[in-house]
Amino acid sequence: MGIRKTLAISSAKVINKLCILFGKQGVTLSGKIAQKICPNILSDLSSQVKKGIYVTCGTNGKTTTNNMLNSFLVDEGFKTICNSTGSNMLNGVIAAFVLNAKINGKIDTDYAVIEIDEASTLRVFPYFKPDYMILTNLFRDQLDRYGEIDLTMDILIRALDMCPDCTIIANADDVLSASLAKKSNHKFLTFGIKDNYKDNQQSTTEIREGAFCQFCGSRLEYNFYHFSQLGSYHCPNCGYKRPDIDFNVDNINLKNGLKFTIHSKDSDFDVASNYRGFYNIYNILAAYSAAKAEGLELKGINKILSNFKPENGRMESFTIGGCNVLLNLAKNPAGFNQNISAVMEDDSPKDLVVVINDNAQDGRDISWLWDVDFERFAGANVKNIVVSGTRAYDMELRFKYSDIESKAIVDVESAISELLTGHTNNLYVLVNYTALYNTRKWLKAKED
Ligand SMILES: [Zn+2]
Repeated sequence: MGIRKTLAISSAKVINKLCILFGKQGVTLSGKIAQKICPNILSDLSSQVKKGIYVTCGTNGKTTTNNMLNSFLVDEGFKTICNSTGSNMLNGVIAAFVLNAKINGKIDTDYAVIEIDEASTLRVFPYFKPDYMILTNLFRDQLDRYGEIDLTMDILIRALDMCPDCTIIANADDVLSASLAKKSNHKFLTFGIKDNYKDNQQSTTEIREGAFCQFCGSRLEYNFYHFSQLGSYHCPNCGYKRPDIDFNVDNINLKNGLKFTIHSKDSDFDVASNYRGFYNIYNILAAYSAAKAEGLELKGINKILSNFKPENGRMESFTIGGCNVLLNLAKNPAGFNQNISAVMEDDSPKDLVVVINDNAQDGRDISWLWDVDFERFAGANVKNIVVSGTRAYDMELRFKYSDIESKAIVDVESAISELLTGHTNNLYVLVNYTALYNTRKWLKAKED
């Protein structure tokens, strides 16, 4: 075991270095090789974590929430392991541990903070049992990639069955996450926004998941929605309702970043961050709740939140020739609807580029575009819209059905260039998954 372990760790490190040298992402391959050489490497290394293992699951916001939680713990003086690049399947998780281990097979860490793709939980949990699972939300992802949301919920229940002592930290406003926490019979804590936030630019017609009670099948009634299916709900038949909220947010202010107050049973905390977008309240709140569950003080987190650089392409801003460009990834209907809300939080005149590709990782089926509430752009003070990407013409048609005029330019660079100068100097670029990398690279190169 000792020699195998050493060989596994050293091989993984060499492979990762070589991949970086050749400009490739080597994390997944390192993890794969390490496990080939030493099949039990993940159990061995994860058993050395001193204080606790967090896993973050959910459709949207996983990477943001997980990395934020990691920063909070590091700020409190703890040593951590985190798969911060978002490699969130089994091999990525193995790599996070292996690349942080010493050659002698020792790992010196207080917490592991690991984002896991929901479908991969069944493959990871045989090797370690997390102490906490954060459930950000469960939305429908690209149709042909993950299948039904019920399948995801079923997988998570089966995975949680493997770790009966795991505490779930669930989004109370999401009926699917909250129901899952209850169904699993695990101990759980909740976070959410109890009252209706009036200025929230929410959609009224978007398609929502979880319209039916998970316990009796009746149609749920909602007092209000924050966005998508997040809101205050109850079942008129069996009485199931949004659970009490352990970490509640009020005093929300969306002007110039996000400001709000988090209330929990023993403390109130005023958050001021440079994040934008109502949905980021949930990401901050989830990370805060998770760290608080360990009894941490978290006095320094406003400094982290104001210094925190969003991940690549998540509300990332660029200045190009005096034009402010805001790039944001949206890969599914819920993500897109949140993006539209974020655009609407800015009431000044603006231009918009929407890039839609249909490569394998995006999902070939783009019928989900019809589930996005693009109609709302009509009231968003948008002056010019250019649609781009391999499915630019589908997107143009989608806008046409909403009575919104747009111009199709398939080439992404030409599309953005079209609106960079001589317009509002306030440009939003919304892209789906495979369009992100090249768009960002190009914007970065053009930056002032
Ligand atoms: Zn019911």
